Order: sequence, then C-alpha cells, then structure tokens
Amino acid sequence: MKPERTSKVLISTKTWSRDSYNLFDYESIVLSEQQHLAEQDCSILRIGNEVDFLEHNQEICYQQSESRIIAKIELSPRGFSIKSGKEEDLWRVVNSASSGHELHKNEIIKLGRVKLQVTHLKTKGAEKISIDSIICAEGGVCRICFNEDNTNENPLIAPCHCTGTMKFIHLACLQTWINSKISKTTSGESVSYNWKNMDCEICQQQFPLAINCIGPYAFLAKIEDSESPYIILESMERDKNRSRGLHLIQFNSEETLKMGRGHDSDIKFNDISVSRFHASLTYSSGKFVIKDNKSKFGTLVQIPDSIDISETLTIQAGRTLISMNVVDGISNMVIE
Ligand SMILES: [Zn+2]
Ligand SMILES: [Zn+2]
Repeated sequence: MKPERTSKVLISTKTWSRDSYNLFDYESIVLSEQQHLAEQDCSILRIGNEVDFLEHNQEICYQQSESRIIAKIELSPRGFSIKSGKEEDLWRVVNSASSGHELHKNEIIKLGRVKLQVTHLKTKGAEKISIDSIICAEGGVCRICFNEDNTNENPLIAPCHCTGTMKFIHLACLQTWINSKISKTTSGESVSYNWKNMDCEICQQQFPLAINCIGPYAFLAKIEDSESPYIILESMERDKNRSRGLHLIQFNSEETLKMGRGHDSDIKFNDISVSRFHASLTYSSGKFVIKDNKSKFGTLVQIPDSIDISETLTIQAGRTLISMNVVDGISNMVIE
C-alpha cells in the first residue's frame, strides 16, 4: 500500500474557570485542558469549563443553553483555517516570546479588556491622514467668541453638522477647548498625546481629528507639527455614548515605548486588567510593532473573519485559549 501524506491539526485548549469580561488569565495554573487531533472540519464547543470537539458529521448532544460553539476548524484544499463560532470573537495571541505583531490601519487590538483601534498610522515620508472636507466661512460669526475675524492663521470653520448662528467656530477657539483636555508624555525622543475625541454638544457630531481647508494642515489638538512617524490608537469604549480616548504617539527616532498601567508607562491605560508593563510598541524600519511583555491578560489582535493555520497558531476565544499545530503525517504509518 502506498503511503499518503496527510495533514492534521493538533488542537490543545486551556479554559480559565472564571467568566470575567471574556478575559483569559495567562498567569493562572488552575485551568481545564483538552486535546484533539482534527483530520477534518470540526467545531470547538465550551460546556462550562470543559471543551469538546465535534467532527462535522456528529450530532450536537448538548442543550443549546449549556454549550456554545466558540470556533470552527475548516479544511479546504488550501489547508486548515479557523473561524469564529459567532458567539465569541477570535483574537490572535501576541506571544511575549515571539517577535511581535506589525500593526496595520483599522486593526483592533486588546490589552486585557481595553480595546483599541489603529485609526491612523503615518510612516516617515508618507501622506498625512486624510480628513473629510470642512467648510470654511466666507462671512460668519464664531459661536464661542462672537467675533467675525477670519484669517488663514485662525479661520472660521464648520466642524460639525450645526447650522445657522451655531455653524462656525474659530480654529483657535475649538483648539483651546480641546487642548484643555490633552495630556502629553515625553519619553526619549518620542511624545505620546492622550485626549478624548469630542463630539459637538449640540448636534452630537464627532469633531474631526484635523483640518486643512485654509492654510496649513492642523490637528485640532495641539500637536507639535513634524514630519515624524506617528500612530493613533483610539480606545473603543464599551459604552458607545462616552467620548473615546485617543492616543497619538509620535516617534522622533526609532525606539521602543512601554504600554501599561504603571506610572513609568509611556502610553498609559488606567484599567485594572492592564498590567503595569503590559506590552511594548516599537517603531523601526517603517513598521509599528507591538509585543506582549508577559502580561496577565494578554496582548491580542482581532481576527476579522477567519485565519489560516500554518504550522502553529494560538487563538483566544473568550476564556479559552486554543493552540494549534499542523502535524504532517503519513497515513498507514508503521509504528514501531
Ligand atoms: Zn472664536
Ligand atoms: Zn454641532
């Protein structure tokens, strides 16, 4: 009989017994562990603290209420992939032993339970962020100072949906208001700005990050203008009505910054699920790279749809950690 090369996926799961904000405690040693060798499509179910694996032709023998499908393994001619079971998002684990993860625009990352979106990144020499066009006044009155002055240095702008006497505001008047809420941390040659993205109190429209309708391009928050690379991380509040925190990190040289809850963090997060020195953010060779620092609740990158399993992959689905290893085997192998 001619031996046939086959691929299988060895799946190992660890489940943390506490159900707390979909967190997984990477320091806990009290975990429930299961293993399964998948040769075809299979669903990964969590029932209480246990995980079970269902091959595609098996019937679900659990009550809907007590089990949830946390992920699905699929086999296609390209190989194995894993996708969400719809009930929980899948997150790729940025292992502290790895070389880190290169951040891309629109990616969502998680430090503990703090969710952040990469809304902008600008590498050296690249274009500045693009913004929606803003109307500048040809004649009007500022809704803050009631003055009609309109110059290139301090134009009257319409930054939101308000109309009539509330339509225009001076760039400087809006900046003064926003800058009263900005905090700045200098570390090495880099600067980290932190402020809340604000909505208009009248029309609830979120103010843009920057304007460029008259004169030079300007951030609404007072940020030292330079050609340096920067990245903007926007915190995604669980409560949609709260204004969102913005972190703009400007790298004036290639260096590594600390992200965490500790006082000496360059990029600070005041959430108990964030470790004191949780992760590092490096700018080097035109890339922004995040790396975990043995944090308690992990550094994670959201998987939008599904992800191919090549060699090894570790995924977090709520309080379950799924480690996968592609095992190349030869069927009909003689075991000595
Ligand atoms: Zn004004
Ligand atoms: Zn408005």
